[in-house]
Amino acid sequence: MNSNPPIENFGEIKLINLIEELVLKKTGKGLIRDDAFFFKLKEEYSDQLMILNSDMLVSTTDVPSQMSFYQIGRKSVIINMSDLIVKSVRPKGIIISLGLPRLFRKKNFIEVISGIIDCCVEFNLDYIGGDINETKELIINPTVFGFKHPSAILYRKGIKSGDILCSNKRFGLTGVGFDILLNRKSDNKYFENYKRSIRSVLEPEISEVEAFILSEKKIIVSSIDSSDGLSKSLRDLLISNPNLGFEIFFNDDLIDSEVFQYIEDFSVPLEDIVLNGGEEYSHLFVIDPKDFIEAQNEIKAKGGQFFRIGKVISEEKIYILKDGKVSVAKNYGFEHFMK
Ligand SMILES: [Mg+2]
Repeated sequence: MNSNPPIENFGEIKLINLIEELVLKKTGKGLIRDDAFFFKLKEEYSDQLMILNSDMLVSTTDVPSQMSFYQIGRKSVIINMSDLIVKSVRPKGIIISLGLPRLFRKKNFIEVISGIIDCCVEFNLDYIGGDINETKELIINPTVFGFKHPSAILYRKGIKSGDILCSNKRFGLTGVGFDILLNRKSDNKYFENYKRSIRSVLEPEISEVEAFILSEKKIIVSSIDSSDGLSKSLRDLLISNPNLGFEIFFNDDLIDSEVFQYIEDFSVPLEDIVLNGGEEYSHLFVIDPKDFIEAQNEIKAKGGQFFRIGKVISEEKIYILKDGKVSVAKNYGFEHFMK
């Protein structure tokens, strides 16, 4: 008997049972088995907003071939949590719709679901249900939600000339990681030398401490998660402020040391790696200079990371400042449906 049969041997009901078994084993709770899903609202939520986000993960466009099914499941949850966390909202619950090919193997299915559930356990998220459908490729479409008082949310608005651009991570690791995973996959030595870059793509980390401190201290920022690359995220920050731009400081605060090593080894353009990497899930925020020192001290005191990476200018351009020279950034950034 085949120990790893395709899921067409099971059918939808058995697959849902399998998910339920795994959820029960790892969390002690079952799925909600009804027409709709229910989430108990607590007293403390009565003056709060419900904040939701849904980001779809599609295997052919979003997943390098080296990624394990466990990592795929985990990443599908991380990318959804990131957008809530940069609003300083702690995700509380998740529902997940899955598209599965008929010939998808049972073991891979269990790996995907285990990656999802372990991530939910790690961040204390309630996995309450979802949907399963047959598709041509693996698709994971989670929806996460959380609650926060409207005055404590870090919105994406209110930037002005002279404000300081900050990040809770350095940039470039995912740019290196993707370049290796997509363009140099035949040689294992790259995987050895650039472990952190590879890991940043396969097992992205998110940090919530920075957003929660800014919110708690009522420090006003304009806030975004960098998921489509630094360049695109900067342009998104400018959307409702079309007369403004940025100067970006290309130095050790912005760029990870592994990136400097990589561009020396392979002479790939630094600007492309840093501005166009994508999927960093960094917290980018713009802050008034008067709040800068307080934010920096508070975040560092709580073990968070804080990098000053640029400033807002009153010109509709993004400039790169590197080694005393100024250049204009090319228009990078990932966009779906573009050739
Ligand atoms: Mg997103």
